[in-house]
Amino acid sequence: MIPLAVPYTPPMVRVRGIAFIGCVQFVKDAYGPEAHERVVAALPDGARGTFTAPLRDAVWKPLSELVLYAGTARELLDPTDETFYARLGFRSGSVERSEGGFLPMVADIPTAIRLASVLWRSLYDTGRMALTADGPGRAIARVSYLPTTPALCQANCAALAGLLSSETRAVRTRQRACVLDGAPACEWEVTWDPEPFR
Ligand SMILES: [Zn+2]
Repeated sequence: MIPLAVPYTPPMVRVRGIAFIGCVQFVKDAYGPEAHERVVAALPDGARGTFTAPLRDAVWKPLSELVLYAGTARELLDPTDETFYARLGFRSGSVERSEGGFLPMVADIPTAIRLASVLWRSLYDTGRMALTADGPGRAIARVSYLPTTPALCQANCAALAGLLSSETRAVRTRQRACVLDGAPACEWEVTWDPEPFR
């Protein structure tokens, strides 16, 4: 179960299948296909079905199952790596961008800012995200009303970088506030690399 940080959020948060696909892809790429099998085998009975049946990108699945898979993967495969959730999140974001149909929503900075809330609702059925310009090539992302954990926040922060980064223009994100520390929203600084010369 996800510890609920705020009392007014529903206990069951759902997330799109594409987030699961990205997460599984990260485990297979980084640790090998048999590593994924080991993680699935270690899951409790109730959570295993999602990972043994074919995953469709647009289906809604409980976030708790994704959190369970990611936590089990870290524990089994790389328990001492402090960057595990950030690496997993970045890869998931890249997969969402390239295979989940999110590319048009993040094609350039003004579009990403305009469609940030739509992007969030396309991935999560709970919470909201706003992206606000903060100078040239910079923005602040604010996520609110999402029950979170340190691992989920780390992964989501990196996933945003993966979603926004193109092959020619990398994006970095850094968490600057978190609801788990008592802030009203989770806030991430978003920085785009300078536009490539053409
Ligand atoms: Zn947070």
